[in-house]
Amino acid sequence: SIVASSEDENFSYIPEIRSGMIRPDADYFYIVSNNTIYGTRYASFPDTGTVPLVADMSSNILSEPVDVSKFGIIFAGAQKNIGPAGLTVVIIRNDLVGNAPEKLPTMFNYQTHVDARSMFNTPPTYAVYIAGLVFKKLLNDGGLEEMRRYNVEKSSLLYDFLDESTLFTATVDKKDRSLMNVPFVTGSSELDAAFIKAAAEQGLVNLKGHRSVGGMRASIYNAMPIDGVKKLVEFMKTFETQQK
Ligand SMILES: *Cc1c(COP(=O)(O)O)cnc(C)c1O
Repeated sequence: SIVASSEDENFSYIPEIRSGMIRPDADYFYIVSNNTIYGTRYASFPDTGTVPLVADMSSNILSEPVDVSKFGIIFAGAQKNIGPAGLTVVIIRNDLVGNAPEKLPTMFNYQTHVDARSMFNTPPTYAVYIAGLVFKKLLNDGGLEEMRRYNVEKSSLLYDFLDESTLFTATVDKKDRSLMNVPFVTGSSELDAAFIKAAAEQGLVNLKGHRSVGGMRASIYNAMPIDGVKKLVEFMKTFETQQK
């Protein structure tokens, strides 16, 4: 049951969600906190009342502080902001564990993993170890408040340039822009392709937008240093000048 959608504008904004829009008898209300493909992000989360809020936070977990008490379940694949692929973090409210139907395979039942303290089977130890190092580094660097400050600084460099540019345009409404995934277009698919090719020659790779949207997308996860973003913006300025 789709409560709200921004499909009318190619998912370029987060639709407004008022509490009256959610059925009070719903089992849960599901969102993706940061849309990796379209570059939208919930700057604040909807009030779902007594309906548990469930969020896929794979592409922006640890990018800024989150009040976990507002959520029934938060889950995130580790491969973007946490560490190596193969690990998934789940944060679940205690009272939501233990209601699984009997036929659910043991491995899919959160109760199994709560009871076994996440060691029902051998976990991917290398991925867990690296995640631990990342958590320690984040704490050492000032925690998630500092990550938010850094990510706002990083993404603003790019958005501020995009908003001034006469060639490139950001595709997402200002209030809903992601700190992690920054999609942009020139308006011409030939020029987009020429830009992606020229950027790759300068070592600026993986800028092609997701196959379902085209254009460009700069994914600037926690691990991307600000110098990488500066280099991209400088290159975009040069490319823009060359088109005149
Ligand atoms: C990357 C990502 C996933 C995980 O996708 P994979 O197919 O495992 O790479 C899930 N949800 C979101 C929002 C993501 O960004």
